[in-house]
Amino acid sequence: MSEHYDVIVIGAGLVGATLAAKLALGEAGRQWRIAVIEAGGPPQRFENHQFDPRVAALSPASQKLLQSIDCWANLEAERVCPYRAMEVWDGEGTGQIEFHAEDLHSDILGHIVENSVTVRAVRRRLAELDVTVIQPARVETLLKSEQPGQPVRLTLDDRRRLSANLVVAADGAQSRVRELAGFATREWSYRQRAIVTTVRTEEPHNYTARQRFMRTGPLALLPLRRRTETGWDAHYCSIVWSADTALAEELMALDEQAFCERLGRDFEHRLGAITDTAQRLTIPLHQRHARQYIQPGIALVGDAAHSIHPLAGQGLNLGLCDVQVLAEELERAVRRGLSSGDYSIVRRYQRARLGDNLAMMGAMEGFKRLFGNSNPPLTWLRNTGMSGINQMPLAKNAIARRAMGF
Ligand SMILES: Cc1cc2nc3c(=O)[nH]c(=O)nc-3n(C[C@H](O)[C@H](O)[C@H](O)COP(=O)(O)OP(=O)(O)OC[C@H]3O[C@@H](n4cnc5c(N)ncnc54)[C@H](O)[C@@H]3O)c2cc1C
Repeated sequence: MSEHYDVIVIGAGLVGATLAAKLALGEAGRQWRIAVIEAGGPPQRFENHQFDPRVAALSPASQKLLQSIDCWANLEAERVCPYRAMEVWDGEGTGQIEFHAEDLHSDILGHIVENSVTVRAVRRRLAELDVTVIQPARVETLLKSEQPGQPVRLTLDDRRRLSANLVVAADGAQSRVRELAGFATREWSYRQRAIVTTVRTEEPHNYTARQRFMRTGPLALLPLRRRTETGWDAHYCSIVWSADTALAEELMALDEQAFCERLGRDFEHRLGAITDTAQRLTIPLHQRHARQYIQPGIALVGDAAHSIHPLAGQGLNLGLCDVQVLAEELERAVRRGLSSGDYSIVRRYQRARLGDNLAMMGAMEGFKRLFGNSNPPLTWLRNTGMSGINQMPLAKNAIARRAMGF
């Protein structure tokens, strides 16, 4: 016997867990049976003096979505760091651009949040809602619906059999569902690795996110803070250092002191010396994009549909935009009395998201190539362009609003 659901979400990372919670809180939650399948265990917990090396810059639009499922307060209670300004500069030229929240009549441009903090907060919220969470369990087989309206069938690694009118794959960049369902995917390696860790800096970060572009890849220092008896210690940053593979290997081989010195130098000592570093992790960088996000009874969201270079910190924000749109379409469908497997729902979702995601991926690719080039006319163009835009408040604010998700 198989258990049947209206919607099964595969993967309870931030994207999948947020989608399930959003659905459960609406009319879908009252009328439909919803399940989530998660392969992993609970996210690691980091003490006050440690940070998760994996962080994301969450846009105000993503914050709003997390507020709509009553999660943001839990997240803030644990630990988030707002940033009010952003500085981006060309490490091999003179171009520089700065964004300030007050220019946009806002208090913040976004928040840096540790991945384990967000996932824990959303999963905790999910546990309070009418959603069946099956964990730990991994999807092993998938049988597509042969005719419109027929359910998709799944088998889990504990041999449980499930069926659903709609299966949503939120199982990340290496999506097993995408593979089992045979979605064609464009994929290539950037031939870069991201080195991530937490560092302590001599100067406080002043709630500013900073990124220096180099030919070998961008280096970002994203502000973090730690609670102390008297307030916040704002001398911590999460680094995302995207570097060509050979350089990444060289950086990983350095001992702690040599790494701190190299990082300080390559960051032009904008925050003084780097006084301490935690353990470094390295992540290979790929661009992947499914050519289609949907098949009858199946939809891809988040990194299962698209993963991009972290240089603009937009991957997760795009995934949460997918969630917002798919949840709205499903909510509209349930109110109209449609089945969750009705193909028109996922078609509308794909129409709304595919072009937007492709545009962002194209922009990231353009940035990467522009800054990865030492050709003198291009160097001149990017420096003049960056500094020129910095003097044009309207253009600059339009870029910032796009990054904020508005
Ligand atoms: C270095 C780096 C920095 C980044 N910085 C930013 C940033 O600043 N801002 C931003 O917006 N984005 C950023 N990103 C992108 C962001 O991390 C991803 O877009 C985001 O984590 C994707 O979330 P997801 O929920 O789609 O997938 P994941 O977080 O990968 O979650 C997938 C979930 O599915 C589960 N799963 C996998 N397979 C199965 C299975 N077969 N059955 C059941 N469950 C399964 C996994 O256990 C996991 O919980 C960054 C990425 C990198 C690499």
